[in-house]
Amino acid sequence: MGFWDWLGGKSESKGGGARKKKGDKTPQSLHFPPLPHLQITLEYKKIKHIILKIKSFNTLSISAPFGVGISEIESVLYKREQWIRTKLLAFPQKVGERYCNGGEIFHLGESYKVSFSPSHRASIKLNEGEIRVEARSEGEIEAVVQKWQRGEAKRVFEEVLGEWERELEVQISHLSIKKMASRWGSCNPKKGYINLNLSLIKMPKRLIEYVALHEMIHFFHYYHDKNFYAMMSQKMPNWKERELELREWKRRIG
Ligand SMILES: [Zn+2]
Repeated sequence: MGFWDWLGGKSESKGGGARKKKGDKTPQSLHFPPLPHLQITLEYKKIKHIILKIKSFNTLSISAPFGVGISEIESVLYKREQWIRTKLLAFPQKVGERYCNGGEIFHLGESYKVSFSPSHRASIKLNEGEIRVEARSEGEIEAVVQKWQRGEAKRVFEEVLGEWERELEVQISHLSIKKMASRWGSCNPKKGYINLNLSLIKMPKRLIEYVALHEMIHFFHYYHDKNFYAMMSQKMPNWKERELELREWKRRIG
């Protein structure tokens, strides 16, 4: 399957070269792999430029001039991916996290709907936007999910820190994962300790990478001074975008 997963129509399913004829006004559904849950519609109009509009927290509509190829639309989406992400997150959304049957849970930046089934053995399975929670009762969902989140956090955080250890040629002596109300991370450069907020596991991996890098740069530069930010920009040129996205996540899931 190519970049576009055409959901409507048969003739367009060839991928890259699809073009719409003038006069065909039917909006089409598209799929953008970096944002798999995003609902996208494409409509051809008598306009000069491609226009993107965020309609809701998970809906994007694209208007394009007649004759514009899919590859051109694709490159616009990739170019504006960060803008789309930020806009989507800023969009008012009422659904919050709820540890109950039918509730919504975030994991590595994706939303999952809780599907509970009673069982004497606790377990968690992720599948296509759904998190299947088995526990003795609905009241245990939160505890079971949080235990699982801790395990996932340990796995993912260690992987991310390991990558930065190699890149920066430093060694961390201890990682602790904590529930922290007001910080994403902290560190003790002398001892080589890193603390990361458990909530980061709900967010996209690129934000975990950003927070981990921030803490590890403190191993070289203790204060948030010019040198600190110079190293940050050198290792992660788009860190400001990630910072912005992190703030939106904070607003969204607290
Ligand atoms: Zn800092």
